[in-house]
Amino acid sequence: MVLGRKTGECKICKKKGRTEWHHIISQNHAKKTGQPHLISDPNNVIELCRKCHNQTTASMVRKRLIREEGKKTIENRSIIERKRREEALAKRKAKNKLELERRKVSLVKEERRRTERKVQNDERIIRKKQRKEERARLANEYEERKVNSINQLKERSVFIENPPSHKKRDFVRYLKQNLDNDKSVKNWFDFFHNNYRRIKLCKLYPTDHWLHNPIEFDKKLSQDYERDGFMWTETGFTWHKPVNKKPQEDEIYQEAIKIINLVTKEFTKAKRDFKKEINGVLNYLLIGK
Ligand SMILES: [Zn+2]
Repeated sequence: MVLGRKTGECKICKKKGRTEWHHIISQNHAKKTGQPHLISDPNNVIELCRKCHNQTTASMVRKRLIREEGKKTIENRSIIERKRREEALAKRKAKNKLELERRKVSLVKEERRRTERKVQNDERIIRKKQRKEERARLANEYEERKVNSINQLKERSVFIENPPSHKKRDFVRYLKQNLDNDKSVKNWFDFFHNNYRRIKLCKLYPTDHWLHNPIEFDKKLSQDYERDGFMWTETGFTWHKPVNKKPQEDEIYQEAIKIINLVTKEFTKAKRDFKKEINGVLNYLLIGK
């Protein structure tokens, strides 16, 4: 703007100090009406202090405009705010609805899962019960088979009621002790001794034994085994038929011989001592010592 130098004095109140240029035809009007030269025309301006400048019509109008604008802005703002709040509420409602929907769905799912679980659980209980019944049935069947089998084995005289032991260690020891008494025992001692860790009776269980195994069964071996005097026990084990009384008599005989020998020895010693004694007496009588 080429408006010349300010004097520093208000043209209205004559106060000196800071001054402003006041456009008589306002700058805004000049611009709007296509007279921009009026803005820089020194004849269109007047030097005023801030106080007087604020009281000019243009300034008042501007202030009012600003105020109205501000009001409008406030109104607009409140409208916007209300709209925003309404939108937020709507959004929240929609979200809540969605959440509710989601919860409903998850509830339905949960219910379905619970039903499925219950069905599965019921099925499991039924299966368990069935298995238990099946086991009981098998156990009964086994018991029945065993009783029948024992009766048949008793009829064939290959069942021993009270064997000395049910332990394979004792059995093998028994075979070892009777190697000399019974020739047939020797083969079986070898058979069991070689398979000591896993005594394979399954080859030997006859067809009427409750533990008979058709796949493992060796007919000839089984027949030989029973012919050699071996029998079956209640626990599914085996033992040899009770041995004859003869070995016992032998034992008594051996014992008697031992006693006779002992007595004889004592007697011989006594005889020797008596002889010594007599010799001593004789010597004394004959030689006088
Ligand atoms: Zn003034």
